[in-house]
Amino acid sequence: MIARHVPYLDLAAQYRSLKPELDLAVSRVFESSSFILGPEVEFFESEFAAYSHAQYCVGLSNGTTALSLALLAHGIGPGDEIITQANTFIATVAAIRHVGATPVLVDIKPPTYTIDIDAIAAAITVRTKAILPVHMFGQPFDIDAVYALANAHGITVIEDGSQAHGALYNQKPIGSFGTTTFSFYPGKNLGAAGEAGAVTTHNHAIATKLRSLRNHGSITKYVHDELGYNARMEGIQAAVLRVKLPHLDAWTRRRREIAKRYNRRLGTIERPECPPAVEPSRHIYPILAENRTMIASLLLKYGIETNIHYPIPCHLQTGFLDLGYRAGAFPHSERLAACELSLPIYPEMSDDDTDYVCDVLELQS
Ligand SMILES: *Cc1c(COP(=O)(O)O)cnc(C)c1O
Repeated sequence: MIARHVPYLDLAAQYRSLKPELDLAVSRVFESSSFILGPEVEFFESEFAAYSHAQYCVGLSNGTTALSLALLAHGIGPGDEIITQANTFIATVAAIRHVGATPVLVDIKPPTYTIDIDAIAAAITVRTKAILPVHMFGQPFDIDAVYALANAHGITVIEDGSQAHGALYNQKPIGSFGTTTFSFYPGKNLGAAGEAGAVTTHNHAIATKLRSLRNHGSITKYVHDELGYNARMEGIQAAVLRVKLPHLDAWTRRRREIAKRYNRRLGTIERPECPPAVEPSRHIYPILAENRTMIASLLLKYGIETNIHYPIPCHLQTGFLDLGYRAGAFPHSERLAACELSLPIYPEMSDDDTDYVCDVLELQS
């Protein structure tokens, strides 16, 4: 086998494929000098709303402020309990704490490894104000079941779609079901050239509230109707995202092709199962292996980079131990943390590189 280098992700390759358009978009922002909010942000908001089949999109400073402002816009604060999952990026849980609410964690469930509906039902109390599940790895959770449960109890759903741009549930895009938060962190499937995020919603009052909250509680300049924040999207980020958005579907199709190619070769290796109603964004291609460390070092020896999403579940992070959970509380999340390995996947990845990763994986099986 001829050794080659397969990076986990190649953002420079994406830049090279769009360089003239991106350079022009950035210089357009300098010419207009609308660096914060402004026309590029407004255009992006309507384009991303249309893409997501949502009435409104509000551009924000990143995916974490998208989460905390979405919670605030839904009237969530101290004394409220918000149910989310133990295996997510820490921002989901942190945002709940940023608004003073209490995160109530639940486990995920194989074979999909998405949030456990029965565990949500069991965690609902009189203080539960919202469910905040995550489309982890870009694989939609059971949206119908979550909304049915929430409606039955009169509680809100906020979806963390940060890994799921372009993913579909019953042929409909993530972002079209209810209030959904997105991150445009550079490594996400739709990535800015820095920090950026957004919320999509069908609710006019929520969209208006978000526009106020992101801008110091102000809709009219220097008139502050409430305590707000500085959480605005930058013009340069919007201009970059506008260049990339028309390519997102082709990129997602390519990610799905690579995932299919992996699926064909990795028959016996355990990985989350996708139900038929779901078309994942393939932000991450996770496998589960008890000997993860050995596999990762073998791959690295052959020049292949991997990642772990995430090595410590939220409830066992030192900064979150005061939530009162202990090891053993969420066995499936803990197993994922111990065994998950993310294989390289990005739209510019070649079939040869994908086959090479499979060849090396076969060396140890
Ligand atoms: C990336 C991510 C976030 C946070 O987004 P930032 O833009 O980095 O603040 C939140 N939730 C999930 C699931 C993510 O993957």
